[in-house]
Amino acid sequence: MKVLKFGGTSVGTPQRMKDVVKLITDGEKKIVVLSAMSGTTNTLVEISDYLYKKNQEGAQEIINTLENKYRKHVDELYSTDEMKNKTKEFLKQEFDYLRSFTKGIFTMFEEKIIVGQGEILSTNMVTNYLIEQGYNAALIPALEFMRTDKNAEPDLEYIKDKIKVQLEAAGEKDIYITQGFICRNAYGEIDNLQRGGSDYTASLIGAAINASEIQIWTDIDGMHNNDPRFVDKTSPVGHLHFEEAAELAYFGAKILHPTCVQPAKFAGIPVKLLNTMDPTAAGTVISNETEKKKIKAVAAKDNITAIRITSSRMLLAYGFLRKVFEIFESYKTSIDMIATSEVGVSVSIDNTNNLNAIIDELKKFGRVEVDRNMCIICVVGDLESQNVGFESKATEALANIPVRMISYGGSNHNISFLINEENKKDALQALSDHLFNN
Ligand code: ADP
Ligand code: ASP
Ligand code: MG
Repeated sequence: MKVLKFGGTSVGTPQRMKDVVKLITDGEKKIVVLSAMSGTTNTLVEISDYLYKKNQEGAQEIINTLENKYRKHVDELYSTDEMKNKTKEFLKQEFDYLRSFTKGIFTMFEEKIIVGQGEILSTNMVTNYLIEQGYNAALIPALEFMRTDKNAEPDLEYIKDKIKVQLEAAGEKDIYITQGFICRNAYGEIDNLQRGGSDYTASLIGAAINASEIQIWTDIDGMHNNDPRFVDKTSPVGHLHFEEAAELAYFGAKILHPTCVQPAKFAGIPVKLLNTMDPTAAGTVISNETEKKKIKAVAAKDNITAIRITSSRMLLAYGFLRKVFEIFESYKTSIDMIATSEVGVSVSIDNTNNLNAIIDELKKFGRVEVDRNMCIICVVGDLESQNVGFESKATEALANIPVRMISYGGSNHNISFLINEENKKDALQALSDHLFNN
């Protein structure tokens, strides 16, 4: 069985929902993971913000506006009065539920419930549409099988067991619809897999049912060789190794959630990135195969902070790096890039929640300098097969960009540059022009 995931834009209007239904009703049995309609999760986050600030009226207003929007979607989506009424009744229940949060206390638990409602809405709407159109489809509720453990990592064994139960309970169907993004935590409370996490849901379900393929349907024809939001003339990459895709996702290629590659990779299930707006486009296939000696793509990760620790003492005496890393570990702050010299070490981080405390502790070892608003530019491809020139080509492209750090050799698939965020667009464009567009 295949798992197909459709993102927010792909289900963003009633017409788009109908287009998705055309794509999934080819007679092949499948599990379909849906995101919330585009914009809805942001609106739900906004409602939560108002409730945190105890502005119940503000929250009510946004809920009412959202409800009206959904009622219009229902009128456009269904052709029978019966399904319109049935779905409007469901909407009423849902929005009354949202309104109930404007009355009591508001904490993180309530927020988690609210931000997950977008997926509940979209999946019910599409399932009802499938049923109205006479297809053999059922909704399987993600909250009954998607679960994280005490380390907030997905509990794959639990997911495997419980999704089986849900599929059996739904009976023999051609299409099983479920929610992306939402899950329960180890204590059974409603939680989620972080913004953009529906990709992760699809990959986890794929691994849980040992799917033959995972398809991520979005609004672009696959992984492009550079970020199309900042660079002119990008083009789709036909094939990526799991590691290459994972690096690109981790270093900012928004088309894939950073954690999404892992479950598919471990289970050895190919992932395809496909375009809902252009379903016949080839897209990108992600698998265990490497295209030798090729530079594949570039991505950029923003909001990076660089920290340099220098001292006149022999800093790199053994044990020193461990002590430095232990400080980061104790504040649960992961390091992206590292560069060392005889007198110092530079690292980059993206989580600055505990930056001040980390700096205070690092000061025990020497002088600490901090550069904010940095960005990691990551060039991905096959370095393994002695790809002579990979690093020189990438560095040459950045000849006119001030580079703060370079990381090479950490994996067989990437070389990374730390630069100022203000130079990001120029750096990305220069890399595209130099590596791909000549
Ligand atoms: P969805 O809502 O379907 O999950 P996303 O907005 O999360 O879609 O991801 C798709 C978007 O990712 C594209 O519209 C594109 O702007 C952006 N993107 C960033 N980097 C890349 C890249 N290298 N290749 C393709 N898309 C990218
Ligand atoms: N709806 C969620 C979000 O907007 C999850 C997703 O789209 O993947 O982040
Ligand atoms: Mg996404």
